[in-house]
Amino acid sequence: MQFFSTRGESPAVSAAEAISRGLAPDGGLYVPETFPLWQMDWQETACLSYGELAEKIFALYLSDYTAEEIKDIVTNAYGDNFSSAEIAPLVGLSDEQYLLELWHGPTAAFKDMALQALPHLMQKAVAKTNHGEEVIILTATSGDTGKAALEGFKNVDGIKIIVFYPQTGVSEVQKLQMLTTEGNNTYVVGVDGNFDHCQKGVKEIFSDGVMNDALKNANKKFSSANSINWGRLMPQIVYYFWSYGRLVKQGAIKAGEPMGVVVPTGNFGNILAAYYGMRMGLPVGKFVCASNENKVLTDVINTGTYDKRREFYKTTSPSMDILVSSNFERFLFEMCGRDAGKIKAWFGQLATDGVFTVDDATKANWQQILVGGYATQDEINQVIADTWKAEHYVLDPHTAVGVKVCQDYQKTAGDKMPMVIASTASPFKFAEVVYSAICGEEADSIACLGKLSAVTGWEIPVGLRGLTEKPVRHNTNIDNTQMTETVKNIVL
Ligand SMILES: *Cc1c(COP(=O)(O)O)cnc(C)c1O
Repeated sequence: MQFFSTRGESPAVSAAEAISRGLAPDGGLYVPETFPLWQMDWQETACLSYGELAEKIFALYLSDYTAEEIKDIVTNAYGDNFSSAEIAPLVGLSDEQYLLELWHGPTAAFKDMALQALPHLMQKAVAKTNHGEEVIILTATSGDTGKAALEGFKNVDGIKIIVFYPQTGVSEVQKLQMLTTEGNNTYVVGVDGNFDHCQKGVKEIFSDGVMNDALKNANKKFSSANSINWGRLMPQIVYYFWSYGRLVKQGAIKAGEPMGVVVPTGNFGNILAAYYGMRMGLPVGKFVCASNENKVLTDVINTGTYDKRREFYKTTSPSMDILVSSNFERFLFEMCGRDAGKIKAWFGQLATDGVFTVDDATKANWQQILVGGYATQDEINQVIADTWKAEHYVLDPHTAVGVKVCQDYQKTAGDKMPMVIASTASPFKFAEVVYSAICGEEADSIACLGKLSAVTGWEIPVGLRGLTEKPVRHNTNIDNTQMTETVKNIVL
């Protein structure tokens, strides 16, 4: 299996090469040459464990990894580091709405689903493709990727990891999780700016010729733990197959009938993995892309114009506060018939003018399968409160965006298909928001963890306990123009 760049100006590479590089040299993203078809019938698929399913899906893409290597990666990634033996339980909210709980990993957000596997994928990729270079993982985070990547990569030999996060754009719990990270190879840097500044800075460093030459001379190279890395996306495909298996097993769906997928979206990685699943044969009848007030995706889905020239809102679902959604590029690549020339032109326009418009045929392609919607802050709080009252289920604000947009979709489309909603974080990561939505009173963010647990009877995830007692180990804060300089100081 070969991987191509969406911008068409870098040579095709192996999976190991795509994973160890992260971003293609021409600034594009790596995509698989084809989508291998899932051959097993759905009854049989439903009987596989999460690990068995992951092994089979990984093997379809990682043709340059041995079966033992893949087994080893999967065994290390999906074991008792997850607090649920099922890894990703599917919980029914109603006959037509199911929550896929993706937050039972060590950092209590869905990023663990891929970032518990990526370090193992990366170490083996490096062994296959490198000549003893040290790998420097550069990561931009809107809050959850940072901690999940730090946990995955800490103390991994031959790898250093640097995380950039928006100083005032993450929740108190998210920040403390990152700042207390141990490990002899971890760096956490607060940036005066938002996620888009962090992501743009990282992409610029990746394509900085002078910097890359200096690194080469020092026998080092960059890679990425963001969902621009193929090694992040591939593990995310697994849980959509898994959720379909659960629906079949629970009798909620007949084998072969379609389900819908609702994903609270920021960088478009999670929903893209579901789309890739469909291309492999997974019966998905509809994709619903759910946004918060930063609804650049809702707008482009409806109009065909991607316009990032708009106000940036800081919301209570900070992991989705994103205006430049990287993986939309991979989706567009498929929608425009894999025309790399078009992708290059559109993303060139986005970089220079902040806006581009796709042709009608491209837009018509996605409008058959994809709808977009968004939820306001008030709606999010209402859904959290209502769901607690009616179902005694505690939603985090990101998942609440998904639930609200799902309700809207089902109302307007009159669709009876069972919808799987990606539940992307534990409510305890955003305890102050959830507590105030449920109880109608404010409380200090860290104190809220205990209060939320007392009120709901839900347990605080292990990774979030005792956060305030841990020493703060990282305290670097910079202006968003100093990212290159900061990286230089750390690695050279
Ligand atoms: C990262 C994240 C999202 C957005 O996922 P994308 O793959 O970037 O679209 C949604 N919710 C939570 C809690 C997240 O951490």
